[in-house]
Amino acid sequence: MSKSPQSIVVLSGAGISAESGIETFRSEDGLWANHPVDEVATPEGFARNPSLVYEFYNMRRRQLLSDKIRPNAAHTALAKFEHEFPGSFLLVTQNIDNLHERAGSQNLLHMHGELLKMRCLNSKMVFDIRKDIGFDTHCRCCRSPGNVRPHIVWFGEMPFHMQQINSALQSCDLFVAIGTSGNVYPASGFYQTAKIRKAHTVELNLEETGSAFDSHVYGPATEVVPAYFEALLAT
Ligand code: NAD
Repeated sequence: MSKSPQSIVVLSGAGISAESGIETFRSEDGLWANHPVDEVATPEGFARNPSLVYEFYNMRRRQLLSDKIRPNAAHTALAKFEHEFPGSFLLVTQNIDNLHERAGSQNLLHMHGELLKMRCLNSKMVFDIRKDIGFDTHCRCCRSPGNVRPHIVWFGEMPFHMQQINSALQSCDLFVAIGTSGNVYPASGFYQTAKIRKAHTVELNLEETGSAFDSHVYGPATEVVPAYFEALLAT
């Protein structure tokens, strides 16, 4: 792009957390490989077999809270950029981990929910949770067991914060997608929304995804994200 951007929207996906040790959705090994999406990531799957769904997210929560999982250089570079950039900056993540906030990101929206939150099935109130969730988990509002679910957006459900995200996409002049395959709707269409208002669109990914961004930078997130955002600050 020719002049410095004033307003930036960044979308991150599972690829930004891969080098922190969290498997991506499509990696061939790891937690997702043995768990079909319709069993563990749909409302119907939860209705059919809540124990399986609880256990799937309990495993992921335990993994996230282990000492081994830490923010990497890509998460840190985004937080540093946000701190130093004088214009408007919004980070939208599809990730349900907490690595962006642990790195220091502030203006951050979790469009697909958060692993360290649970929601009451009756009141829809949201609570922090660091332990396992199960049938014996007492909801903190209705005080009964078995009334909670992971605060995760499953396939077929509406992502969170869409109004705020769309409004930021329509007014940004730079949109950057990091480590996302472009297979999950509606995030896959964000770059097109940004382009309608003539934003420059950039993809940072390990490999080609086939999406029609204006420019592409390929490589591991821990290398390409710090390099890209340091260069952007210098423009
Ligand atoms: P995805 O698994 O579909 O795609 C991951 C993308 O990251 C791929 O395009 C891949 O090429 C790229 N990638 C892999 N390693 C990379 C690296 N080291 N550096 C840069 N890029 C790398 O993930 P998605 O597009 O985010 O969509 C999948 C859905 O799964 C999302 O809804 C997300 O909520 C969920 N998910 C989240 C997490 C997490 O919270 N960390 C992990 C797995 C899946």
